[in-house]
Amino acid sequence: MLIRNKLILRFTLLVLAIQLSFSAFVYYFHAASREQRFTNRLTGKAALSGRMLIKRGSLSKGFFGAFRRRDLLTLVGEQVSIYGPGGRLLYLSSDTISQAQNMLYLSRITPEKPVHFATGRRETVGLLYEHEGRAYRIFTSGIDEFGWAQLEKLRLILLVGNVGALVLIILAGWYFADESLKPISRVVRQVEKITASSLSQRVDEGNQRDEIAQLAITFNQMLAGLEQAFESQKSFLAHASHQLRTPLANLLGTLETSLDYDATLADTRQSLRSGIEEVRHLVELTNGLLALAKADSGLLPTEPVRLDECVAQALDYARAKCPDRDLRLEFGPLPTTDADVFMVPGNAQLLTTAIFNLLDNACKYSQASVTVSLGYADAQTLEVRVTDTGIGIAPHEIRRVFEPLYRAANGTAQPGYGLGLALTQKIVQLHGGQITLVSVLNQGSTVGVWLPAVAE
Ligand code: ADP
Repeated sequence: MLIRNKLILRFTLLVLAIQLSFSAFVYYFHAASREQRFTNRLTGKAALSGRMLIKRGSLSKGFFGAFRRRDLLTLVGEQVSIYGPGGRLLYLSSDTISQAQNMLYLSRITPEKPVHFATGRRETVGLLYEHEGRAYRIFTSGIDEFGWAQLEKLRLILLVGNVGALVLIILAGWYFADESLKPISRVVRQVEKITASSLSQRVDEGNQRDEIAQLAITFNQMLAGLEQAFESQKSFLAHASHQLRTPLANLLGTLETSLDYDATLADTRQSLRSGIEEVRHLVELTNGLLALAKADSGLLPTEPVRLDECVAQALDYARAKCPDRDLRLEFGPLPTTDADVFMVPGNAQLLTTAIFNLLDNACKYSQASVTVSLGYADAQTLEVRVTDTGIGIAPHEIRRVFEPLYRAANGTAQPGYGLGLALTQKIVQLHGGQITLVSVLNQGSTVGVWLPAVAE
């Protein structure tokens, strides 16, 4: 069901329930007060009959009885029955009055408590009247025609009023739901226009305060993220196809040339060597991409790992790869506690790979010594910095070098695929850490990695 319809339905049901309860209350109150009023009238009538007929001793006088029958009856359908001591019927305002009900209630009348009962719309009050030490029981009944007519009129008014109000409630509900949902419809219309090729568009953020504005802001943030992801995906594809095509084209060229022109075994062996070199490039590239994909899957065993051992291991690998380079290890500030130092939750192999990538880059893109420093940035954070004084990176490329397969323009003379930094960043993020790169062209670079230490 559409939210608009849901809102209209709930609003209508709620207001209708309040309105019906109010109508029922008004009707009940009115009916109760009508009954009370008429009972009071009947009681007054019964007392009057007692005074007129019993006190004056007119019961015995036939003429007064006749007068009473003609002139005293002022209620619609009024009937008076008087019982004397011992339950003897003394007087009837009409000869046709049925006494069955009166007889039933006769014994229930007490001086304190008159009786009141109804048969259909005829209501009766029976009370005790004492005169000269004798107890008389007087029943007066009548039909409250005016009261019932008033009640029926009220019922009709309430019925018509409620039906009319129902129509108004539905219209009001529809109007309010429509007004409240208008901003959402506007956002939906704008979002519908945004496609994969127009991810740079943004939704109107309105007053930037209400819930709809919050939704639009969140959506815009998501769009910005999507746009960035889309762009890096495009750049990744472009770079990947380029990187794969070059060694494949070289391999194809080498093999074709060898087939057509190699005359001696020595020439063929030389061609095969070149071919193998190209295939090795392809294997390295594929391995790099696989490592990145694996790190992307986010599965990370998190046993406590000694970061200083990872750094030492990475240094060993780097020294083995570049034996003539001066790679220095320095220690930064250490915590004062006796607990095990340099412990981080994570995966030792991945952390070693990440630090080795940074050392490898520092060696590739600089000629002088490289410094690694390891220390605590604060009690909960470990910091590794790799600093070189090499070719540096142009400011506009600093963010891009973290994209998979992206290589800075000044570094293409060195071997590489542009995967090391992307992989390192992924590994650091997997460990809940952060990576930063500060670089000045032709002066050098410093890559900093911050990792959360094992909680004590
Ligand atoms: P690769 O070094 O294999 O090309 P990386 O992802 O490790 O791939 O680095 C991406 C790019 O960033 C490199 O091609 C290089 O242009 C630049 N870069 C990385 N580290 C350094 C550094 N220490 N000094 C200068 N440039 C660097």
